[in-house]
Amino acid sequence: MDDNIGVSRTNSEHHGLVLKEEVFLYLKETFLNEKRVSKLGEEFCRDYFQRLLLVLTIPPSYTVIRINSLDKTEKDQNFLLKILTDELISSQNERVTKLCPPFVHPSMPDTAIIENVGPVEGIERLEAEIVVDHACGMSVLRGSEIFAQGILGAPIYLKRGDSVSVYSDLDHSCLRGQTRPIHGKKLFLGNGEATVSRDEVFCKKITNNDDKNRNRISTSLISGVGVKMTNGLYCAPRLDTLNPKLFFAQNLPSVVCSYVLDPKPNETILDMCAAPGGKTTHIAILMKDCGRLVALDRTLSKIQRISSLSSNWGLTCVETYAFDSTKAFKKDAYPTTGGPPYPAETFDRILLDAPCSALGQRPAYRNNMTLSNLKSYPSYQRKLLTQAEALLKPGGVLVYSTCTVTQEENENQVAWMLKTFPALSLSPQTPHVGGVGLPGTLLTEQQQKLVQRFDPVVSTYNDAEEKSKTFDIDTIGFFIAKFVKSKKQFHTH
Ligand code: SAM
Repeated sequence: MDDNIGVSRTNSEHHGLVLKEEVFLYLKETFLNEKRVSKLGEEFCRDYFQRLLLVLTIPPSYTVIRINSLDKTEKDQNFLLKILTDELISSQNERVTKLCPPFVHPSMPDTAIIENVGPVEGIERLEAEIVVDHACGMSVLRGSEIFAQGILGAPIYLKRGDSVSVYSDLDHSCLRGQTRPIHGKKLFLGNGEATVSRDEVFCKKITNNDDKNRNRISTSLISGVGVKMTNGLYCAPRLDTLNPKLFFAQNLPSVVCSYVLDPKPNETILDMCAAPGGKTTHIAILMKDCGRLVALDRTLSKIQRISSLSSNWGLTCVETYAFDSTKAFKKDAYPTTGGPPYPAETFDRILLDAPCSALGQRPAYRNNMTLSNLKSYPSYQRKLLTQAEALLKPGGVLVYSTCTVTQEENENQVAWMLKTFPALSLSPQTPHVGGVGLPGTLLTEQQQKLVQRFDPVVSTYNDAEEKSKTFDIDTIGFFIAKFVKSKKQFHTH
């Protein structure tokens, strides 16, 4: 049975991320478009696309943790790194002994990096099988334990302390409460120890007296860890036990993004799509918690998370509003110290970390997005970009970012911005640790060099000697563009 697909970097039989056929064909067409093929050759473009789908199924090789550096000297930060190392060792099970201690990123002093281990070869398959859903499985590959709520199937005899093999259900073939092993596509995630019995995970709930519902299995009643991974296919630090006032796990390009915005104390800054707030808190720290940082997100519950995250980190300069940022600019709005909408040219710097197709997120084995959904993002992003341009002061900085790999949402959006708003120009980025823009898009070669694309495909070309810097390359797929607005008048709105 195919219970171990895609886990090896050399498994040529696995064809990578499973997409709806219409999406697969569309992406293939864009990555093999005429311009790219004539520039790079068809063979290269085909191979690139195949590598892309494959690398998206593999977790990044590094875990990145940002340290709360508010009011901290370099000495304090070294101390925090020591605390982080101690916390990782004391709070984790034996898997952490396989990991090297964290080190600080050479260009970002508040960023700790830990190299993960894996895929571990030759792990024995045990008789007792636990099945978890796709989302839970993907988090396990990045170091998470298995929470009781994520368990779909478990043997009838499962009791606390049992050794189990854990699988992710890749094609929804497992019913909640299933006792027998599944026969659909499944991915082996490693072995662990059950910390709950089957009865504690599932209980029989009699909803009414008719025979049909009598034995229906209800969702799990207990929370907390259900399986402690002892020998995972990938070994990465567990993150949920870290002190939330001091440490925040983030993907490396997200940390780079706030640095590229380059926020300064006493500025007025807008984070247009801010939840869950990783970049917001980072921007607030980089501006030394001095000035005004407006964080908008259209979902109220998510906005509440940003507020609690900010207060956890001792930040006072963050204002949060649940608001639709496609309406954040209003020509005749009164300049205000309160919530949106705002008049033109209100902000010194704006971050638009846009809603996107999120195809750069790894690992993922299946993505059920439809083609119309995929195609809906560029126009939505343009609405937000148009608002951002209007709200930016002359001389101000706009950073646009996405966690996806499509050129329509990345390079081509930049080309559209430059054409539509002559007051904007591309600016170099610091740090520029990722790659350049994709060739064969609407950007010129010069413009490609100014944008920053984190392209995990590049890590698949690296030979072993070049591994030293792969923490900047072996990341999720991500894109950053930095614009400056000219001080000259252009009258576009
Ligand atoms: N910047 C965030 C961070 O680093 O934690 C991640 C942002 S996430 C990529 C995109 C966010 O945009 C989601 O939280 C979503 O709720 C929000 N969003 C989508 N459409 C929006 C709109 N019209 N106005 C405001 N927020 C929106």
